[in-house]
Parts: sequence; structure tokens; C-alpha cells
Amino acid sequence: MKETILKTFAEVFGDAEGAKAYFAPGRVNLIGEHTDYNGGHVFPCALTIGTYGVARKRNDNKLRFYSMNFEHLGVIESSLDDLVPSKEANWTNYPKGVIWAFGEKGMKVTSGMDLLLNGNIPNGSGLSSSASVEVLTGYILRDFFGFDVTNQDLALIGQFSENKYNKVNCGIMDQFAIAMGKKENAIFLDTATLEYEYAPIHLENAKIVIACSNKKRGLGDSKYNERRSECETALAELQQVVKIKTLGDLDEETFEKFKAIIKSDVRRKRAKHAVYENQRTIRAVEALKNNDVKLFGELMNASHVSLRDDYEVTGIELDTLVEEAWKVDGVIGSRMTGAGFGGCTVSIVKDEAIDTFIEQVGKAYKEKIGYAADFYVVEIGDGPQTL
Ligand code: ADP
Ligand code: MG
Repeated sequence: MKETILKTFAEVFGDAEGAKAYFAPGRVNLIGEHTDYNGGHVFPCALTIGTYGVARKRNDNKLRFYSMNFEHLGVIESSLDDLVPSKEANWTNYPKGVIWAFGEKGMKVTSGMDLLLNGNIPNGSGLSSSASVEVLTGYILRDFFGFDVTNQDLALIGQFSENKYNKVNCGIMDQFAIAMGKKENAIFLDTATLEYEYAPIHLENAKIVIACSNKKRGLGDSKYNERRSECETALAELQQVVKIKTLGDLDEETFEKFKAIIKSDVRRKRAKHAVYENQRTIRAVEALKNNDVKLFGELMNASHVSLRDDYEVTGIELDTLVEEAWKVDGVIGSRMTGAGFGGCTVSIVKDEAIDTFIEQVGKAYKEKIGYAADFYVVEIGDGPQTL
């Protein structure tokens, strides 16, 4: 890949003298969904697929960006004097947002750059290609300008840029999982405190398989904001009777005791998911520590049911992928991953069942939904790196 991207960089920008190649992973969340903005735990891991980049510092203010995933857009040019989000900037709003965010944090980027990207994760599918681009950009800027920031800071700067520059109200999970990624480990992260712990994933004779529904998110973004505000209201109602800062502070028992204070059935279901999913995530990590992969899988399945019935963020496409997966012998667990409404599912599948899984789930999906799903057998990889 390094040779290909350097070669393309030279074709696009004249030559590749002084250019360096980089990589930042994508991520998948194994369990703990829609808990990150509710002060709960998440359990994501970085992948060996992600975003490759080649970058070169310039002597002027110019920013020249090119993506092999958006070839039809050609080179998109702007400058350091123009760090304002715009429609014309298209995908370059992501790297520009990070340059802007560094400036906001007192680390001014003083010269321009040529940047080429080539991602091998699907865009807009819940594997966080946007966070991958942000962390990659941050990593390159640190390398170029020697900014004194840790990988954790790169995650926070990436999130800040996505929230404030790109106006996407995401939590910290995606950027954190990518910036802090560690081969063969998932990250058990408390989103309320940013305390985290690496948990080795030793799946003996099994792999992580991602199924991408190819359903575009559509209404997803507005529903995402709706869920966030439903949870905020439910939290405010609960705070009248119990001293908590977030829904993540409640265990199931305390929730059951006080839930009647939540005035709507819908909000009660949403809060129930946030509370139970957080506890499930804590238990899932325990299960892994005890080498109980079977229990881990059962908790993944329960997570999907809760996202389907209580949080209502799945839809026919994700439900079909998961329900068909559950029918396959050798599937340890399967659930939707990411924000929902479209995007991907994550499954743990025994090695000998992977071919059957892809064939059987793929066939049933196509018959029911009318178009094909894509499958990725993935490995857990490291965070951002220079190639
Ligand atoms: P997700 O993060 O789930 O993949 P998003 O909608 O948040 O989905 O982010 C996708 C957007 O990120 C793309 O539309 C594009 O603007 C940007 N992006 C991601 N990967 C690349 C890439 N390789 N090249 C250019 N832009 C990219
Ligand atoms: Mg994203």
C-alpha cells in the first residue's frame, strides 16, 4: 500500500519528494452502544483496516487535498486563511477541522500541506472513517510541527473538530478507540472519566466478522439527536429522586426502583437501554477476563435485542443481518454496531463457520432487502503510525 499511495501522490502533486506515508485505523465497537454520551462504558477496538495517507509540508499557506476515495472531486485546494467549514470543501472539512482545532487549542499550524488519502474502510458505515481521518490528520500535524500532545489529546482534538467544525455531535469513543488502538486488545473505556483499560482479545478458533448493510443512514442523524435528548430528559427526571450525574451511574436495581419518575414510556425504555447496556458492557469485559467467550457472545446478543426493542435504532436491514447470523451454527454472538439505522453489524464467528456465515447471511439478506451486504473478516490493530 505504501508504494501505491506514494506513487499516486507523485502523480497528483508532481513528485513525492519529502512526502511521508501514514496510517490510522478504523474501529469497531464490540459492546456498549449509545452509552458514550450517557456517561457509560464502551468496548471498542482499532482495526487493521483504516485510512492511509501521504503528506508533505509546504513553504506557503496552501492546503491541497486529494482522496483516492473521492477521485472525481480531484484536488481540493484552500488555505490556512480559510479554515471555515463549507459545502464546497466537501470531505476536506475533516482535515481542515483538525487544523482549525489545533489552532483553537493554542497550537497554530504555520505552513500548508499537500495531503493524499486512501481509505480501505467503507465511508458512512459506522466504522468511523471520519474519526480515522481526524486522528490521521492530528498525527501528521504532530509529526510536522512537533506539537506536545499525547495520542489521547489527538482523540480529544479530533472529537472537538468533529463537534465544532463539522457540527456532528459525536461522543469520544471513536477518536479514542482509534488514537489509543492496540493490537489484539479492545479498550474498556469509561466515557464519564476517560479512565480506560486494555483487555486482550484471545478468540481461540474464532474471528470478528463485520457485515456492512450498505443501507445509508438517511434519517439517522436526526434520530441520533432525538435519542440524546430523550436520555437527557430522562436523566433530569431521575435526578429529582436519586443523586446521579449520568445514566451510567445507575445499576439495574436502582433504575427499577426509581424508573416510575420518568413520565413517558418511550423515555423510560431509552433510559433502560442506557443503564442496562452499561452494566452489560462491564459484565462482558469480566466474562472475557474469565475466558468465557460464550457469555460474552450472549451479552452481545442481548445488546442487540435492547437496541432493537428499547432504544429502537436498528431497522429491518440490521435486524435481518443479526437474526440471520443467530441462525448460523458457530456464531458466538452478533449485534449491530455504531449509531444504528444503517451501517454494520459485528459478530464473533468460529473459524470453521465463517464461509457458511458469509454465504448464508449474505443470501438471506439479499433476498429480503434487495441488495447485497459486504463482509469483512477483521483483525484488531494498532493506533496511528508512520509507515
Ligand atoms: P463514518 O465515520 O461512520 O464512516 P461519517 O459520515 O461520519 O461516517 O464519515 C464519512 C465521511 O468522512 C466521508 O463522507 C468523508 O467526508 C470523510 N472521509 C472518510 N474517509 C475518507 C477518505 N478516505 N477520504 C476522504 N474523505 C473521507
Ligand atoms: Mg463518523
